[in-house]
Amino acid sequence: MKLNVLALPGDGIGVEVTREAVRVLQHVARKHGHALSLTEGLLGGIAIHQTGNPLPEETLRLALEADATLMGAVGLPEFDRMPPSQRPEAGLLGLRKALGVFANLRPVRAYAALLDSSPLKNALVEGVDMIIVRELTGGIYYGTPRGITGDTAVNTMVYTRAEIERIARMGFELARNRRRKVTSVDKSNVLENSQLWRKVVTEIASEYPDVALDHLLVDNCAMQLILNPRRFDIVLTENMFGDILSDEGAVLAGSIGMLPSASLGEKHGLYEPVHGSAPDIAGQNKANPLGAIGSVAAMLEYTFALKEEAAAVYTAIEQVLNSGRVTADLRPAGPPATTSQVGEAIIENLGN
Ligand code: NAD
Repeated sequence: MKLNVLALPGDGIGVEVTREAVRVLQHVARKHGHALSLTEGLLGGIAIHQTGNPLPEETLRLALEADATLMGAVGLPEFDRMPPSQRPEAGLLGLRKALGVFANLRPVRAYAALLDSSPLKNALVEGVDMIIVRELTGGIYYGTPRGITGDTAVNTMVYTRAEIERIARMGFELARNRRRKVTSVDKSNVLENSQLWRKVVTEIASEYPDVALDHLLVDNCAMQLILNPRRFDIVLTENMFGDILSDEGAVLAGSIGMLPSASLGEKHGLYEPVHGSAPDIAGQNKANPLGAIGSVAAMLEYTFALKEEAAAVYTAIEQVLNSGRVTADLRPAGPPATTSQVGEAIIENLGN
């Protein structure tokens, strides 16, 4: 199979974790006989330094041509005081918009070796395996009218039937490859917007009789994520609720360095670890690359439908965690491994 991938390492530890993720992707492609066509582009602070623009035209062109984009992280402290449109993060937002990625997937998985890093009791997190599917391009973050007039501020939560239908179908399709359960999250006891959401999701569910659907109000969902996280398979929700719930889900799994994400649209997939550029540890070969490597597994699974290859990467991550050859954020018993040593350990586990 031909794998047409763009890598955008970005800033800070983005560069270090992407290097390892790319090595893993190259290894998997070679081992399984896939033709990897890999290009690299500029995004974020480094792009501002070299071109004056956080999302250069050339990067946008490469991203639109690629099947999938692997991103590291963007952000440099020197831009912290700049207006939002001139900051590295503007490049990432522009890229998501240009690629039309309307669904953000955050897998949350409790690895046995990391149970002690979770703030919850082991018995509660053991076996947790869910994907939070968040609508990414609609809802209150984009709705109009919006603004502040004198002492009154307005934001508007808008969803159309078409927007709800496409994200719902994505959730049900994902469930078919898993435990076949979708939990749709809304606030339909108060918001008309959520009433439409619930109605349309229920209608789409009839196209998937093999998948079970239940509905939860968002406040109850926030509670159930802590009380009984194992009950969830696919959590399907709108933009703002998903923003909040996915960070709650993130802490279940231990370190932020572990978490991959995928943003999917009709044509493109954008894959990135959830963490930022971590200026406090950048350039020290200390960053945990497993979130970025997990993002490669997600790319193999969702964009290229290479389930066996993706499963091999997930298994290698699990084995490396069990072996204790992990970075300092996971508090290993012995001396911590470096970013590149963890990448090497994954490749060793994948075998030739
Ligand atoms: P951060 O995720 O970069 O770091 C938060 C803390 O977690 C830091 O102590 C860091 O050392 C640690 N950490 C993060 N990733 C790690 C990893 N892989 N291994 C080990 N430790 C890790 O968040 P922040 O400090 O709030 O933001 C730093 C910069 O990153 C800012 O400029 C911010 O805007 C940007 N940012 C970018 C993205 C993105 O590119 N998607 C996401 C979040 C933040």
